Amino acid sequence: MGTNKKVLSIVVSMLLTVSLVSIAIFTYNFKSFSIKTTTDKAISIAQNVRDGLTAHMVNGTMEKRDLFLNNIAQNQNIENFHLLRAPSVIKQYGNGLYGESRANDIEKRVVKSAKIQSKLIETSNNAVLKIGIPYIATSTTNPDCMLCHEAKEGDVLGVISMDIDISSIRMEGLFIASKILITVLILLLIAIWIANYYIKPYVKLFDDLENGISQAYKGDFSYQIDTTLTNEAGEVADRLNELSEIYKFKKTIELDENKEVIYHRIVHIIQTKFQINKFMLFEIDSVNKVREIIFDSTDTDLKNFDYSANICRAFRTSSNVFSTDFDDICLNCIQQASQYICLSYIIDEDYSLVLHIQASKIEEISRIKEYIPVINNYFDMAKPVIESKILMGILKETTLRDPMTTLYNRRFLDELFDSNVSSRVKDGFVHAILMIDIDFFKKVNDTYGHDIGDVVIKKLAVIMKDSIRNSDMSVRFGGEEFIIFLTNTTQEKTLKIAEKVKETFGQETFSSTIEVFSKTLSIGIAYYPQDADSLWKTLKYADEALYVAKDTGRNKIVEFMPDMHKDGDDF
Ligand code: GH3
Ligand code: MG
Ligand code: MG
Repeated sequence: MGTNKKVLSIVVSMLLTVSLVSIAIFTYNFKSFSIKTTTDKAISIAQNVRDGLTAHMVNGTMEKRDLFLNNIAQNQNIENFHLLRAPSVIKQYGNGLYGESRANDIEKRVVKSAKIQSKLIETSNNAVLKIGIPYIATSTTNPDCMLCHEAKEGDVLGVISMDIDISSIRMEGLFIASKILITVLILLLIAIWIANYYIKPYVKLFDDLENGISQAYKGDFSYQIDTTLTNEAGEVADRLNELSEIYKFKKTIELDENKEVIYHRIVHIIQTKFQINKFMLFEIDSVNKVREIIFDSTDTDLKNFDYSANICRAFRTSSNVFSTDFDDICLNCIQQASQYICLSYIIDEDYSLVLHIQASKIEEISRIKEYIPVINNYFDMAKPVIESKILMGILKETTLRDPMTTLYNRRFLDELFDSNVSSRVKDGFVHAILMIDIDFFKKVNDTYGHDIGDVVIKKLAVIMKDSIRNSDMSVRFGGEEFIIFLTNTTQEKTLKIAEKVKETFGQETFSSTIEVFSKTLSIGIAYYPQDADSLWKTLKYADEALYVAKDTGRNKIVEFMPDMHKDGDDF
């Protein structure tokens, strides 16, 4: 059974029990009350009868008492109205009228006990109270009983018994009890509805918390609690959801490829979750004191933007900056916006982040201020992950780059060609591989020295880098052998780049102690997937084209042709 049903059934059982006990108490009390009132009525009748009989006795008209007694019985709606003479009275005055000497059970008990005796006889249709009341001899009444009776004080002189129909009183009681029952049932329904309405969200929240905690025990903190409550309980749910979202965020960024992807996620969260529209995110190189804009949605004039980090008060003071403290607290920010918040986050000794938020109204700043603890949570979660991504990036860069030219090395090419991404080609485009080798390079070393040879190599690296797009790659493949990998390009563009590299390098002059000289290049080109069905095969064909270029006079560009390939399919 769900918690909601459990709570409801407890509430219903409690209310039902209270109602039933109340009705039972009422019914019992009403019955006692009915008997008590009826007994009082019987005592009053008995008193009247006694007074009447005494009057008859005094007046010597005792023989006419039946008229008086019948009247009383009829007027009071009484049945089995009977007068019994006690044995002492029978002894003194005889049996009396109409069986005044025949005693029923109740009368016998009254005579024996000298007390009122009664018995309630109930059937489904009616209820009758049989009651017997003793007449006790006493000298305190006027006239004194002992004047006529040969009896002692306290002797039972007679019993008056009667049956009083109390069905109507019982009906009345039942009617009141039914009214109470109906009222209780209506109240019960209202109580159930109210309980359901108010308790249900709490019970649901409790169930959700239970599920969330048991999932958390299993290591999954992603459970989200959905509640309609807006009070403290709702706040608890919101906070837990917040934690769960932050946990999900951490789990996600841990698997992100690099810090750039994490920055992208942070920007997205700031925009969508916190509804902040105008902001800049800076990465600050704390060692060189320069800042780089990671994201900018402000109207800042970037042409005149000052990239020196010390201009940023948040970075310099490692503290948050609010325009609400002083309008011009940051002289740099005030130039860009009237209201602003700058939040500073130190990643490690070398890097910091600053989130600069702009707003046009102070109300917007107040709204954003409320989010700061949650924004801080996201950055705090991201900090160690960003730090490790930076470290990994640095490590990777060093293992994948050639230290002399800073071009990618052969290992990078291995990784690149083995990844699926690199072999994806857009429709109508090709990837081109240019294999570049300096002509008669040995001579440079031999004639001008190894150092001059290095200068030539470095110059070629710079020319290659300057001739390609960011999405293309330059690789130092071997000693003075280089590769340019052009992605999603055309044959025409490839030839242009090849030409540019060859021409620029050819026009370059190098100085040595002996003379000023220049060198030439040979370039072999192959296209993927036009020439070969794998990048490695394309590379091999570019090499074969380079071989042809060397073989046919050097200082030229040669594109691969199928007939150049003599060794058969060796891949
Ligand atoms: P070819 O026109 O056929 O290419 O003739 P080449 O003389 O250039 O012959 P090759 O390409 O085989 O020459 C490679 C030379 O490059 C051999 C090696 O001494 C030199 N080399 C390799 N790495 C470096 C380097 O880092 N610095 C210098 N200075 N020389 C290097
Ligand atoms: Mg060479
Ligand atoms: Mg070579």
